Amino acid sequence: MPPMTSPAALLGAPYDAASSFRRGSARAPRTIRDALASPAGNSWSEALIDIADPRILIDAGDIALDESNARDDIESGVRRVLDSGARPIVLGGDHSITYPIVRAISRTVPRLTILHIDAHGDLYDEYDGNRYSHACPFARIMEESLAARLIQVGIRTMTGHQREQADRFGVEVIDMRAWVRGTRPTIGDGEWVYLSLDLDGIDPAFAPGVSHPEPGGLAVREVLSLVHDLPARLVAADVVECNPDVDPTGITSRVAAKLVKEIAAAMQPVRLDRDLRS
Ligand code: MN
Ligand code: MN
Repeated sequence: MPPMTSPAALLGAPYDAASSFRRGSARAPRTIRDALASPAGNSWSEALIDIADPRILIDAGDIALDESNARDDIESGVRRVLDSGARPIVLGGDHSITYPIVRAISRTVPRLTILHIDAHGDLYDEYDGNRYSHACPFARIMEESLAARLIQVGIRTMTGHQREQADRFGVEVIDMRAWVRGTRPTIGDGEWVYLSLDLDGIDPAFAPGVSHPEPGGLAVREVLSLVHDLPARLVAADVVECNPDVDPTGITSRVAAKLVKEIAAAMQPVRLDRDLRS
């Protein structure tokens, strides 16, 4: 288990070759970092954690990727950051990167709870003949029993096949209809959590710069609330599917950067708003 005092570490995974519709998300690690560093904002989280403090957040750079060997490169890149004692926040890239990331994490944390925010279940057995498509990572993760729980939030593109897959793997699906009726994930304080955040889980009104925009999604504030309410045992996270090619105003990179800031702060055991005021 990582020490509770370990910093978060940004780790870019500039890979979009498993995207089924359009590429472009490989450029997002750069635009998200630019948004994080932009003088349009500051480095403090809403709970008053300063992510410019290297005890809170460091930058581990980008994974050097060979497209023909991407999954292995990503898995070993994540393992390197974990071995250094930091908690990776991986910047995608398309969602296919989550499978090799979770493979690396699960060696450190065997009974992982995955909180997956997405418009899509990403549970296809294969998509366009590719078992490692960005439409498939959670099928691979569950087949290999890399997680004890998979909780999906924001889903609004379910298919018959994916419903069968969800049932087969025991996935806890909170689709948008259940969300608006008030269903929320329940995660115990003792569970180690991996957060996988596909930006298309957010409504395209807030985050239009994604490869597969799907109306009827979450507000940014609702996702922030999910992050703020996570238990402190957040071991790692990814933020995926931001596509700068279809984000002319840069707002989607800004949304991603805001979420990265709050995720980094949520990884800290001491949160000024809740711990020091009590
Ligand atoms: Mn996805
Ligand atoms: Mn998606």
